[in-house]
Amino acid sequence: MRILLDCDGVLADFGKGFSALAREHGIDYTQQKGWDVFKGMKRADRKRMERAVMQPGFCRSLPVIPGARDMVDGLRSDGHDVFCVTAFWFDHPTWTAERTTWLEAHMGIDRRHVVHTHAKALVAGDVFVDDKRAHVKAWSDAHPEGRAVLATWRGDVWMRDGDRDWYDVAASPLALLEAVRVLID
Ligand SMILES: [Mg+2]
Repeated sequence: MRILLDCDGVLADFGKGFSALAREHGIDYTQQKGWDVFKGMKRADRKRMERAVMQPGFCRSLPVIPGARDMVDGLRSDGHDVFCVTAFWFDHPTWTAERTTWLEAHMGIDRRHVVHTHAKALVAGDVFVDDKRAHVKAWSDAHPEGRAVLATWRGDVWMRDGDRDWYDVAASPLALLEAVRVLID
C-alpha cells in the first residue's frame, strides 16, 4: 500500500522545537497541543516568533517524535511505500530544502518520496495520516476508498467525539503501525 504521512505533529515535534525557539528569544511560552502553535500568544510575541521561524535552520533542527522512526521503518519493512506529504511554511526561504534533508536524515525517507504541498487532498494513496483535522477531512472526502487517520499523539486536545465517525484515530506512532497491520490482514 502507499502510505502518506504528514511531518509536523506526526514525525517531527514542531511544537517542542517552537517552544525551544521561544525560550531562546526570552518569550514565556507553554507548548500547545495541536498544530496551532501561535494560539493564545500575544501579538508582539507572535510577530517576533514569526520572524524567528523564518530564519534558516529552525526546520532542520526540529526534534523527532518518539516512536516515529520505528513506525516508518515498520511500515517499510511490511512492504509499504511510504511518502511524506507536508505543507511548507509560506515565504520561508529554505523550508522545503531543510525539510527534505530532515526526512532523509531522521526517517530515511528519500527526496523522491517527499511531496511539499498545502493541497494534500490531491495526493493519492491508500492510507493518509495527519494531525490536522481539516487535512484529514479533505483527504477523506477526496479519497473515500482510502483510509484517513487523525494522528492524535500531539494534537488530541482539540479532538471531538463526533469526529470519530468518519476517520480512524491513532494515539501513537506504534498504534498507527499496528492499525495499518490489522487493516491489511
Ligand atoms: Mg501536521
